[in-house]
Amino acid sequence: MSRCTKAILYKDNLKYNLEQIRKYVEPETKICVAVKADGYGHNAILTAQLANEVGNIDYFAVATVDEAIELRDAGIKNHIILLSLSIPKEFHDLFEYEITPLVFGKDYIELLSQAADNYFKGDDKKFSVHLAVDTGMGRIGCYSNEAAEQAKLINSSNHLELSGMITHFCVSDSLEEKNQEFTKIQYEDFCKAVESVKAAGINPGICSCGASAALLNNCDMHFDMVRPGIITYGYYPDEITKEYLTSAHKDFNIKPVLALETQVVAIRHFPKGKTISYGRTYECPEDTDIAILPIGYADGLLRRFSPGLEVTINGKKYPVRGRICMDQCMVDIGKDNKDVKVFDKVIVFGPKESGALTTADDLAKLGNTISYEVLTSLTKRIKRIIQ
Ligand SMILES: *Cc1c(COP(=O)(O)O)cnc(C)c1O
Repeated sequence: MSRCTKAILYKDNLKYNLEQIRKYVEPETKICVAVKADGYGHNAILTAQLANEVGNIDYFAVATVDEAIELRDAGIKNHIILLSLSIPKEFHDLFEYEITPLVFGKDYIELLSQAADNYFKGDDKKFSVHLAVDTGMGRIGCYSNEAAEQAKLINSSNHLELSGMITHFCVSDSLEEKNQEFTKIQYEDFCKAVESVKAAGINPGICSCGASAALLNNCDMHFDMVRPGIITYGYYPDEITKEYLTSAHKDFNIKPVLALETQVVAIRHFPKGKTISYGRTYECPEDTDIAILPIGYADGLLRRFSPGLEVTINGKKYPVRGRICMDQCMVDIGKDNKDVKVFDKVIVFGPKESGALTTADDLAKLGNTISYEVLTSLTKRIKRIIQ
């Protein structure tokens, strides 16, 4: 636990974000916090526990059965939705740990139903499932015109019960007109599916379609439940959403939670013309001093963040030079810099509270990706320290 390269989780910021989300949506709208990928790299258990402190948060969403079991083992009693499909080998654990799976497709529903018959034999227990509808994401789900039939199949089984319906938007993070138009088409298609299930005399249960982006941008599409992920951890799904909220004077604000830190472990003098790192992509244009940092791409500091990456040391930004290695990288602090000493703290990105001058969004831009990937790329080697 003494490694200096680590992630600090600002617990108060996480709680603040959860409170902001709870305040933003109608009190009767349920909230399902996405804690998949270990809470986007932020510790799923901590996130779930803080959500329960904030209160009135009903569901958590994970991507794998193991992630759900981890929450159950930590004493989390909320509903847990499994957002990715499980395979027959995992059905036993779904029943055992009361994990709510997404289902669709006659064959799949039959398989799960048979497994439930086996597991719950002699018992009149009903096991909750949510029906996935693909309204345009092009991922999992049935088509809207198949929903009623599949809902019937679920509820006519001995031990399965439809307790919700779910769809997922693919362009709700864009406020461009054609994309908002597509989101509306998806929403209407989902409404059609829900209505057809009702018309078949079946209760569709808790219906949900919006993740962070639709939660913020499409308040008329919250349905019974919203499923925020990225905003929980203090990042907007995209820059435009952030601007929209400001310009529309929406009362909503979030703070990044995670700071990635390391320390200077050596300072070396490099003469003009010396090259730095693999490939010799950087040549010192003049004499300078270089700080060596014990962090690299095996920690999640992606190789493609350089050139361009800047880290914060004692309130100032300094550029990483040359390629980021697996376990180390080199930072140009300039000649005779009195502000940087060996063993000083370095912040790669983080909230203001950490002293960082950059966020995961800045790294995402450099790596041609999104904050989601920057955060979930942090590897197991990075210990998460709750502050
Ligand atoms: C990941 C995920 C979410 C959360 O998405 P964010 O954009 O992080 O809010 C919601 N629903 C589904 C189906 C997801 O896969």
